Amino acid sequence: MNDAILVINAGSSSLKFAGYVDTGGVEPEILGKGQIEGIGTAPYFTVKDEGGTRIGEYRWPEDASVTHADALEYLINWIEENATDVRVAAAGHRVVHGGLEFSAATRIDDQVLAKLEKLVPLAPLHQPHNLAAIRALAGSHPELPQVACFDTAFHRTHPPVAQMFALPRSIAEGGVRRYGFHGLSYEYIARRLPDYAPKASRVVVAHLGSGASMCAIRDGKSVESTMGFTAVDGLPMGTRTGALDPGVVLYLIQERGYDGAAIEKLLYKESGLLGVSGVSNDMRDLLASNEPRAAEAVDLFVYHIAKHLGALTAALEGIDALVFTAGIGENSPEIRERVCERASWLGINFDPEANARGGPRISTEDSPVPAWVIPTDEERMIAIHTARVLKG
Ligand code: AMP
Repeated sequence: MNDAILVINAGSSSLKFAGYVDTGGVEPEILGKGQIEGIGTAPYFTVKDEGGTRIGEYRWPEDASVTHADALEYLINWIEENATDVRVAAAGHRVVHGGLEFSAATRIDDQVLAKLEKLVPLAPLHQPHNLAAIRALAGSHPELPQVACFDTAFHRTHPPVAQMFALPRSIAEGGVRRYGFHGLSYEYIARRLPDYAPKASRVVVAHLGSGASMCAIRDGKSVESTMGFTAVDGLPMGTRTGALDPGVVLYLIQERGYDGAAIEKLLYKESGLLGVSGVSNDMRDLLASNEPRAAEAVDLFVYHIAKHLGALTAALEGIDALVFTAGIGENSPEIRERVCERASWLGINFDPEANARGGPRISTEDSPVPAWVIPTDEERMIAIHTARVLKG
C-alpha cells in the first residue's frame, strides 16, 4: 500500500483537494483532484482521477447544514472507502500568510497554529478558512502529520527595499511590510521555467485568476510582487480593488461613515471587476457582455497589468521573458493579446496564431523577449513541499 499526501486548499465556501503519491521519483505523482464547492449553501463534491475522468460525485440534500469540518470528514471517508490501495500519510495545506517567520513549509503543531492564528487579520478572506481545515483535521485525525505551505514564503527573498513601506520604523517593526502572495504558484512556475526558457534570468509572471498578481523573478528567486501587506494590493481582481490611494479609505471613514467592517467588504468583496462592471466578477461574463461598463472593467484590468509589467521590468532592470498563468492567464487569448500588444515596447513580438492555440509560446520565434503560457499547479507544489518536510 502506497502512502498518499492529501493536499487541501480551503477557501470561504469551497474546499479544493488533491491526492499525490510519492513513488520515489523527482516529484510526487497525482492520484486525483476535486473540490467541495458551495459549502454553507448547496454543497457539491466532485473528484476526478489523474486522467480527468470523474470518479466520484455527491450533492448534499438541500436542507443539510454542512460545515467545513463536515466536508473534510466526508472527503476522508470517501478516500478510505474508494482509494483502498493508498493510506493517507499526511495532509499538506495551502496557508495564505506565513508572516515574517515562515519562509518555508512547516510541520504544524499547536505552537505553529497559534502563530498562524495571529496572522488572521492580515488575510481575513483566506487565513481563517485555511486554519479551520487544519483544526478540523487535527480534531478528527490527531495522529495525521499536517504541513503548512505558505503563499508568502516564496517572496521572502525580496530585497529589503521592496519589503518596506515609507512608514515610521515602529510600525514597520510590528510586521507592517510588503509580503507578496500567490507564492506557491510562482514557485511552481519558477520550477517549470527552465523547460521553456532555460536562458531567461529576469522573468515577469502574471498570475491572472479571480485573485490576480504579478511577480518579478530573477534567477528563480522572487524579487518583487504587486501584492503587498495583504492580498488586496496591486492589480484589480474579481472583487478586490487592487492598489488604492489610502486617502480614499480615509475619506470614506471621515466623510462617508464607513467603519472597518464596511471598508473590508468594499475592498475585498464589492470592488474590482464586479464593482466596476456591475455585471460579474468572472472574466468570461465580462468578455461576453455588451454592457459598456463590462468593457471598461476589462480595459482597467488590462491597463493595470501593462502598467505593473513596466514597474516590475524596472525592478528587474530588464526583462527576458513574460509568463501568463492561472484561470484568465491560461484560458483567455483575448486578455493575453491585449496585454502583449501594450507590451510591444518591451520587445515582445506577439504571435496571434500561437496565442489562439494556447501557446505555450505566444510570441514570434524572433521576438527579442518571449511570452509564454505556463499552466500553474499550486497543489503539486504543496505536495512537493509536504513530501520534503516529512522526509526532514
Ligand atoms: P482561478 O482563480 O485561477 O481559478 O481563475 C478563475 C478565473 O479564470 C475566473 O474568474 C474566470 O474569470 C477566469 N477564466 C476561466 N476560464 C476563462 C476563459 N476561457 N476566458 C476568460 N476567463 C476565464
